[in-house]
Amino acid sequence: MSQLDAMYAHIAAHEQSFITRLMDYVRNPSISAHGVGIGETAEWLTAYLTSLGFDTAAYPTAGWPMIVGRHHHKPGKPTVLFYGHYDVQPPDPLEAWVSPPFEPTIRDGRIYGRGAGDNKGQHFAQLLALETWLAVAGELPCNVTFLLEGEEEVGSPNLAAFVTQHKALLKADLVITADGPIHEDGTPQIEYGVRGVLSFELHARGANTDLHSGNWGGVAPQPLWKLVHLLATMKNARGDITIPGIMEQVAPITARERAALDALPLDLPRLMAGVGMSELDGPPDVPFYDRISCRPTLTINGIHGGYGGPGSKTVLPHEGFVKCDMRLVGGMSVAACQAAIAAHVNAIDPSVEAIFEAGMEPSRTSLESPFAAPIHRAIVHAQGVEPYHIPSLGGSLPDYVYTQILGIPAFVVPYANADERNHAPNENIIIDCFIKGIRTGAALVKEIGEL
Ligand SMILES: [Zn+2]
Repeated sequence: MSQLDAMYAHIAAHEQSFITRLMDYVRNPSISAHGVGIGETAEWLTAYLTSLGFDTAAYPTAGWPMIVGRHHHKPGKPTVLFYGHYDVQPPDPLEAWVSPPFEPTIRDGRIYGRGAGDNKGQHFAQLLALETWLAVAGELPCNVTFLLEGEEEVGSPNLAAFVTQHKALLKADLVITADGPIHEDGTPQIEYGVRGVLSFELHARGANTDLHSGNWGGVAPQPLWKLVHLLATMKNARGDITIPGIMEQVAPITARERAALDALPLDLPRLMAGVGMSELDGPPDVPFYDRISCRPTLTINGIHGGYGGPGSKTVLPHEGFVKCDMRLVGGMSVAACQAAIAAHVNAIDPSVEAIFEAGMEPSRTSLESPFAAPIHRAIVHAQGVEPYHIPSLGGSLPDYVYTQILGIPAFVVPYANADERNHAPNENIIIDCFIKGIRTGAALVKEIGEL
């Protein structure tokens, strides 16, 4: 029997107790937004990691504590940093749950409960994989650091500062996060990046009060028209972003990314029907997954001003506001995008004020990273399926803290089912996904230890 087969046998033999222990973990509420149960859960995790032989501490932050456990007994071997979060979303609306959110229940091969998929079931699977190694082999095949955050669900406000202040503690060769769902067709996937985001507002002003559109129309400045004209210079009708200095930042798609994007399954009619779309945004000649993974966006979140009530009101409004967000991809930076947008607004209409929020940097790890192949092999070995390779998710997560602050490659290897209903009532994890997660976690550290 190979060493990994011995691990898989141990996992199979302990399946029931692993499931029961996950349910016990989910039973502890740890709602970061409400501050419920955070301290107890952090203490429980610290004790568990310590019991596995990890050098563990809970580090206070301005918010909830960061838990760091280190098991570094393999000099010369790589160090993998596993990231997860022990906080969960508020469970509301409670009446929509079939079984109560903090009374985990098994139905139809799934464990239902808040945090079952996001993220307790996923990082606990990784922890059980390490526990399995220690039980079967008495050691881990590589050095492991575990970082568990208690504020992911409230936007990780202290993560960047914590990582910046603890670079030596967190020093690793790569980071792996098990979070989010696998593909909806059930195929596992490796995610190499996330888009960043920059939100901003444009404020246009005219007179110091609303005016009669007849008495003043034709001479008084019209803030909403100003915004419409300005916005039209920022993205054209074809769908191209036309702000100078934005598209120039975008990293070119590599040959391996091209192949990975082309290999992703796409059932466009079904996808469009699912959300009632009869057409796609442009540009029409850019493939679907390129747009989500490798292209920035400029979205108008809302335009506000003037009269929108019943009937008509012949008013000439004196101010108008628009809220926009830009999603950033690999190669782009928040600072460069902010500078480009500000310069463009100033060049087109200096009377319009641009106000920026703090953005989040994008993150992209190369598909040619030396860790990509071992991660791929581990998934194939543990699950018997070839994973998809996703160059970047469309959404934004603070992966840049690893790729930019620690300077290491970052991989997301989700274990939860696509219909895990994270953030929603009836959150769940398919038990088979949880067990596959434990097996994959065991194979991951073996493959990394052999590098
Ligand atoms: Zn979440």
